[in-house]
Amino acid sequence: MEVRINQIRNLLQDKGLDAILLYKPENRRYVSNFTGSTGYVLITKELAQFITDFRYTQQAEAQCKGFEVVEMSKLKPVTDVIKNYSIKKLGIEEDYVAFGQYLEFKEKLENVEFVPLEGTITKLRSIKSQEEINLISKAAEIADEAFQHILQYIKPGLKEREVALELEVFMKKRGASNLSFDSIVASGNRSSLPHGVASDKIIEKGDLVTLDFGCVYQGYCSDMTRSFVMGEATERQKEIYYTVLEAQEKSLQSVRPGIKGVELDKIARDIISDKGFGEYFGHGLGHGVGLEVHELPHVNGLGDVPMEPGMIITIEPGVYIPDYGGVRIEDLVVVTENGYEVLSKSTKELIELKI
Ligand code: ZN
Ligand code: ZN
Repeated sequence: MEVRINQIRNLLQDKGLDAILLYKPENRRYVSNFTGSTGYVLITKELAQFITDFRYTQQAEAQCKGFEVVEMSKLKPVTDVIKNYSIKKLGIEEDYVAFGQYLEFKEKLENVEFVPLEGTITKLRSIKSQEEINLISKAAEIADEAFQHILQYIKPGLKEREVALELEVFMKKRGASNLSFDSIVASGNRSSLPHGVASDKIIEKGDLVTLDFGCVYQGYCSDMTRSFVMGEATERQKEIYYTVLEAQEKSLQSVRPGIKGVELDKIARDIISDKGFGEYFGHGLGHGVGLEVHELPHVNGLGDVPMEPGMIITIEPGVYIPDYGGVRIEDLVVVTENGYEVLSKSTKELIELKI
């Protein structure tokens, strides 16, 4: 983890800090490689410590290369460890530190000034190493296989929940440790809910079905969406599907270093608006994916950061018509030196399941 410890030390320099304390699980894992549930990363110019309790000291010794493991306990909390050093300015994760913990920090570390890190660790995480790209590719591959499996499994009469459970079991059997999020299985009218988590609704012939799901593989997430029809598609279903597909492909083909998230978003949005569906595409085009399923960079109206090689993003336009149904198509994509590489390999041809 030398590289990442050095990245953090550069941050100390840039922000004029004496130390940085991290314990948001994804940031902690990114810097230290620790996969357990309790622990603090403390990095100063001289020190790199991993502070955890008795349950995790052995694990931390094994996982946190380059760190000195320090044991804490109820009687010797993390603030007692921090007090040993002359830290005046301490960077903390203002978007993660709970208010109660902050009050405790202030009380016990009265001479320390707390400085918000303002997402700088999350920014570091937005550019992936080859090893991280490989893990996310593997998570995407498991999701692709699960989609193939579900196309064989799904039939009218099943509940959305049964499809979600089948997805979960399939992915876990293939090595996923978890789901990236509660799988979205939205059929019929419910497919107009952009985040229609699987319900007791029974899937029927003629339904548009949207599956949005992903899994966690060795800490890294995948995320994909496909919509398809239970039977033959109607003209209207086709019109919506091909509009979303065109928006998805045109924005995807524009991914390259230097382009901003807001520009990609506009490419897709203009196509959908030109077809008259503008008011039915109410969310951003995509998001970064990594240790968290939603992370930087922004791929929406806020996306003012130019893309860089190694960023992994989703491209997922959709059209959702209330009381009718919706379509979303989502791929996971790596920004490369020359353009992009798609990690989601499932077909985007309109699928009309034979039932
Ligand atoms: Zn998704
Ligand atoms: Zn997504």
